[in-house]
Amino acid sequence: KFITFEGIDGAGKSTHIAFVADYIQQRGIELVSSREPGGTPLGEKLREIVLHEKMHLETEALLVFASRREHIAEVIEPALARGAWVISDRFTDSSFAYQGGGRGLDRAKLEALEQWVHADLQPDLTLLFDVPLDVARARLDATRELDKFEQEKADFFAATRNEYLRRAAQFPQRFRVIDSTQSIAAIQLQIASILDACF
Ligand code: C5P
Repeated sequence: KFITFEGIDGAGKSTHIAFVADYIQQRGIELVSSREPGGTPLGEKLREIVLHEKMHLETEALLVFASRREHIAEVIEPALARGAWVISDRFTDSSFAYQGGGRGLDRAKLEALEQWVHADLQPDLTLLFDVPLDVARARLDATRELDKFEQEKADFFAATRNEYLRRAAQFPQRFRVIDSTQSIAAIQLQIASILDACF
């Protein structure tokens, strides 16, 4: 199984990844836990560039997909082929949300890249951690220094969030939208029942 985690910055997705990893491993399943942009040595270099350098929007999209291509070839496909499960902190829905929704890159270009890079691979399950913008912003301000994306304006995050919700509506069979304003315990209960249906 291939499971992805999505959400705007401050939605709390990273808090729940460790819980999901434990929950899966308790079943004796081999688990590979990864992230994007990144997930491979080359991908991590691309991540540094994407997160910290100014560049043309299409360059940014291409670098994220380059990182993804490497991630799929080196990590995701080999793991799935040997029967392991893979969880990834972000995948292609992030490209639609950030480069597409947030920054305005034409969706058709993203769809073309998605077809090119992984026409035959989609997540089995995508957990979308959804929160209103003011909640996300308050969490970020409280916890860490903001990177270049997190400093963007509120309307950027509104557009990012809307694109996530549009993707979730478009692909309801793999998306589960989690109301991330709930307590951590309540979210864990919800995640556990979603995962129980996958075993
Ligand atoms: O997952 P994480 O919160 O560490 O993401 C790092 C940053 O990369 C985020 O601030 C997000 O805004 C940005 N990002 C992006 N486009 C992607 C994936 C991530 O702008 N396709």
